[in-house]
Amino acid sequence: MTDTQSSLLSLEGKTALVTGGSRGIGREIAILLARYGAFVIINFKTDERAAQKTLDTVIQLPGKGCLSRFDICDSVEVDKNVNAALAERKSIEILVNNAGIARDGLLGRMKDDDWKIVIDTNLTGAFNMCRALTKSMIRKRYGRIVNISSTAGELGNAGQVNYSAAKAGLVGLTKALARELAPRNILVNCVSPGMISGGISEHLSENQRESIIQHVPLGRLGEPQDVAAAVAFLCSDMANYITGQVLGINGGLYM
Ligand code: NDP
Repeated sequence: MTDTQSSLLSLEGKTALVTGGSRGIGREIAILLARYGAFVIINFKTDERAAQKTLDTVIQLPGKGCLSRFDICDSVEVDKNVNAALAERKSIEILVNNAGIARDGLLGRMKDDDWKIVIDTNLTGAFNMCRALTKSMIRKRYGRIVNISSTAGELGNAGQVNYSAAKAGLVGLTKALARELAPRNILVNCVSPGMISGGISEHLSENQRESIIQHVPLGRLGEPQDVAAAVAFLCSDMANYITGQVLGINGGLYM
């Protein structure tokens, strides 16, 4: 890599907030952004030990960061914690809306609560975060927002009407917001992972895993690091002319 390319990838002097940064894909995103020089605010909801483990890894790089515990579904809590972080850091240039959950079930048996919490977390949570953070990005005339969608939102998955709807909604949110904020030099993109090892795909049986892999041209599940690399690229100055896009990280599962 040339010096110019590596300086375009640098996130030195930037602050990034990663929702759901305590484990899984979010942890790898937080670690990689810190590796490129960003100060990372690692958000989580319940698992403080896991979040602390992510922060310890960031500090060992050596990198810089802190923890921020709040529920992205609660707009009051979001505003309070984002404002506190802005007071501390002065500005937050990068937002990665990664936190997400799945509550699978066939439509006929899906409970109201399973529909609601999946929409609230995967879609409304991202809306709450974007609304809270974009004011400061607009003032600075700079921002990078990356939303983590899913191939479920592009292909649809049986047993996941709630999750597929939320992830497809995130694509719409991304494109509308990209148009709204482009004049302010704020770029909004989506990364859409296929089946990634660990995290919310952990409940799959070996048989289910094998049958999914059969449909992946690259012949393997993705790793959290594969997703993190795409996010870091979209947050960097290498991606200055990219907005409103959906970047599939799926081994060819959907093309
Ligand atoms: P994990 O289950 O490993 O991690 C989820 C993270 O989200 C945790 O850090 C959790 O924090 C946090 N979180 C959940 N709810 C909230 C909330 N209300 N407020 C704040 N934080 C919250 O998930 P993955 O790493 O597997 O997935 C990460 C993202 O990638 C998700 O959006 C998922 O939909 C998407 N994705 C994942 C795929 C996969 O195969 N793994 C495939 C395609 C997309 P805590 O534990 O502290 O509550």
